[in-house]
Amino acid sequence: AAPRIAVVGGGISGLASAYYIKTALPRAKITVLEASPRVGGWIRSTKVALPSRTGSGASKGQDDGPIVLEEGPRTLRPVGLQGALTLDLIQRAGLQNEVIMIAKDSPSARNRFVLHNDRIEKMPSGLMSVLFKTWQSSSALHGIVPLVMREMMRPPRPLTDKDDDESIYDLVSRRFSPDLADTLVSAMVHGIYAGNPRQLSVQATFPVLVRAEQQYGSVVRGMMRGAGAMSPEDRAELDKLVAARPEFRDLWQRATKSSIYTLQNGLESAVAALTKQLEAMEVDVRTGTPVTRLDAKPYGEFDIQVGAEDAAESVVADHLVCAIPGHAVGRLPSNLPGLRGAGEHEPAVNVALVNVVFARDTVPDLAVRSNGFGMLASARRGPQTDPALLGIIYDSAATPRAHPAVEAEVVKFTVMMQGDAFSSAQDPSMPERAVTAIRRHLDVPTGVEPVLVRAHLHNACIPQYGVGHVQKLRALRESVGPKVHLVGCGYDGVGVNDCVRSAWETARRIAAGI
Ligand code: FAD
Repeated sequence: AAPRIAVVGGGISGLASAYYIKTALPRAKITVLEASPRVGGWIRSTKVALPSRTGSGASKGQDDGPIVLEEGPRTLRPVGLQGALTLDLIQRAGLQNEVIMIAKDSPSARNRFVLHNDRIEKMPSGLMSVLFKTWQSSSALHGIVPLVMREMMRPPRPLTDKDDDESIYDLVSRRFSPDLADTLVSAMVHGIYAGNPRQLSVQATFPVLVRAEQQYGSVVRGMMRGAGAMSPEDRAELDKLVAARPEFRDLWQRATKSSIYTLQNGLESAVAALTKQLEAMEVDVRTGTPVTRLDAKPYGEFDIQVGAEDAAESVVADHLVCAIPGHAVGRLPSNLPGLRGAGEHEPAVNVALVNVVFARDTVPDLAVRSNGFGMLASARRGPQTDPALLGIIYDSAATPRAHPAVEAEVVKFTVMMQGDAFSSAQDPSMPERAVTAIRRHLDVPTGVEPVLVRAHLHNACIPQYGVGHVQKLRALRESVGPKVHLVGCGYDGVGVNDCVRSAWETARRIAAGI
């Protein structure tokens, strides 16, 4: 009989899982169950009209205009097998002409800044620029040359076993210095995980550092000798993917000359196109369908309850794909004891995200000051900097769009702050503090107001992989058995590319087992 597969969660991980499973097993009967009225999860883009300037103060703007605002992820990196899988999916969904590549020599790629002790400094673009640049004494990178030299002389940490994990902070402090961990490294961690480097597992978040130290005796030596290079297995898969379709090969060749890319109409357009494709492939994508209970039945089946207790419906499946993070899985009642462990395994942080748009002619030199990807706040922000600030993305320069005439009239930013600093999504201090941060760090004069501000409080949006994540995840996967598949940002990496890869690997495992 055709295998029945239930996918819980219609974020990118769930949708990509459904796509890859259906491609590998065309007879499979797949149902995607998404709680909210829309698919896409954290991938959400809005298009707004340029507000009229007759009113006073900033507006929230009208939907359906030409200005793209991203409420979640905004850029993807065309790097590695996972980068190729995502771009391949975008191409298969028919969006190749909407891909906006950002060249490696563009200001977006070259100008990335760190905010440290109230000062903005340009991040070095590579090891060589670190080694040859003379840093001022107050710099986040002060004294990095001797640190690099000393690191190369230090013996590697003897591991008790291969799961002997530590935090990012501990590895960087041990190999380089606590100062570097608190400055440059904390800023990078704020940018990717919105989290604390003292709590995050280095094995789960920056495995390349562990590999470099353990295989080459030193992080610096390892990086210089290619510890970050793709594994031979990944290389072979990537070559297969590129060779399979000439239209993807051309796109991938262009992409590898770029640092990042985005989509003309926002990343959510990829989700919409993928969903259309799934429907054409006869995958049943159900929105407004919250899963409320997960049970194993006799004879290896699963009973997935959807809807409230009094009006619950059941979906029966042979394989259960949980494309929701651990904290969401752990909350669901279930007779599968392993699943309950998923919640304890992995907490997630809240992030306040504020889109801020200025009219370009009101601050003529703002675009020049913000001509780069953006700034990330280090753990040592300084007394003048908002203690909740994680970073400011200079959207207009980071991801220029294909509507230059309209976008030329505005300068867009996204401010990210720690969500715990705010009481609710309506907290008025959220937009206020975001605008103040831009004003302060990018010298926007008082009296110049943004034309549009939209604030969002994203609860539990970025899972935090604590020390021991890899080991705990292995145990969790063993305890749930071979027919329950944990996919996506809660487990295998938080980037969109990681989620797509996690889905691809899940489909291969399911197809191999059937
Ligand atoms: P989710 O997007 O969380 O999807 C899970 C889905 O499951 C949701 O739609 C939810 O409604 C649904 N669900 C939950 N519980 C149930 C239930 N009981 N029943 C049914 N459905 C349920 N990544 C990048 O690569 N680049 C970036 O620039 C980037 N920036 C980011 C900025 C922000 C602010 C955030 C929050 C994330 C960012 N990320 C970025 C990370 C990336 O966007 C996410 O990790 C990824 O989108 C997660 O996808 P997912 O499908 O695994 O999970």
